[in-house]
Amino acid sequence: MHTPTLSVASAFASGIALLSLWLVQRVHRERPGLRWFVAHLAVTLTGSLLIGMRAKLPAWASIPLANVLLAVGYLALLEGTRRFMGRPPLSWALVVGVTVTTGVLYVAFGVVWPTLWVRSAWHGLLVLSVYGQVAHVWLQAPGGGPARWLGVLMAGHTAFHVYIGAVMVFGPATEDWLATNLAPQTLLESITMVLAFAILVPQVLAAELQGDLRRQARRDPLTGLLNRRGFAEAAARVLARARQDGAEVALAMVDLDHFKAVNDRFGHPAGDQALVAVAERLEANLRPGDLVARFGGEEFVVLLSGLGAAGVARFAERLRDVLAADPLAALQGEPLRSSWGVAHARDPQSIAVLIEAADRHLYAAKRLGRDRVETGTLPPLP
Ligand code: GH3
Ligand code: MG
Ligand code: MG
Repeated sequence: MHTPTLSVASAFASGIALLSLWLVQRVHRERPGLRWFVAHLAVTLTGSLLIGMRAKLPAWASIPLANVLLAVGYLALLEGTRRFMGRPPLSWALVVGVTVTTGVLYVAFGVVWPTLWVRSAWHGLLVLSVYGQVAHVWLQAPGGGPARWLGVLMAGHTAFHVYIGAVMVFGPATEDWLATNLAPQTLLESITMVLAFAILVPQVLAAELQGDLRRQARRDPLTGLLNRRGFAEAAARVLARARQDGAEVALAMVDLDHFKAVNDRFGHPAGDQALVAVAERLEANLRPGDLVARFGGEEFVVLLSGLGAAGVARFAERLRDVLAADPLAALQGEPLRSSWGVAHARDPQSIAVLIEAADRHLYAAKRLGRDRVETGTLPPLP
């Protein structure tokens, strides 16, 4: 392959990647790390251009300066990756140490006593330690997806440069031999790497955003509990599992008593705090596999499986006591009363059927004076 053409292509690829990540960074200004990725591409591109123009430049610019820029660019990628993934930044001592060592080594072995193998060994070591860490951080990203692919990409890049370093240190490393044999491979790898990086980073952001939206669409912002939509989806899964195991299920609708009066007396913010406390108490008293959701303003719904009718009634009575007994701080010692409607079934047709029955029992609880639990078992399906 024609090396000068590849060099130009590589510079173009870096330019495109730089532009793309700069645009991404402008949209996601608040996201740490992105600015460092832009700096990484800009600085390594400049370093590579200086190396590429070595025939026209003095040795100090095409060797020490270019390689210091590359080292700083690699460190910028590591810094960006760490910040992007919420990790602490690198220590300044390390950054300064690596930069100064690179400068001194390249002046000594690039200008004063030109020795290619020392420079190659240092470059290989630098790539191994910096890109190795970059790969490690990406590979540990929770949830996998494009972040893991970035890890694979960086690990591949690390391995490739360790191979190049080894060839340069142990191989027949004359400048001419390297130029014809290694330059095309290195340039092709660099083009692939830089374009894949520019494609994957926005995909990591998109996947995160999608995850956030999905979470937000299913959660109630005040209490953090599932909302109706989230509950409907999760409940369908609980019901399917219960059906498989032949387990009984029960649904409790909980409505706080005279909550309007609570707001009127203590203020809306105190009412909000009370709702949050109720959510926490309900959640804290569930067993794994059970569900709780905020169904409406001051209404909650609890889905239990594997408890018989008597067990469900006991559970509801206990929870009603838990909500009332230990007065909530926001309500200045006033107990928070609640009414419960509970529908229990062996093999309910659907969640909707359970909700409807629980709602009926809740109305009965309200009618019969509030601060109580009304239960009923649905007849078995014909
Ligand atoms: P009942 O015993 O019959 O249920 O009486 P209630 O006052 O609880 O019922 P009603 O349906 O009349 O009023 C519900 C109240 O819940 C009215 C509303 O201000 C309050 N509420 C609903 N959502 C929120 C919320 O997010 N925050 C606060 N602070 N209050 C809320
Ligand atoms: Mg209500
Ligand atoms: Mg109410």
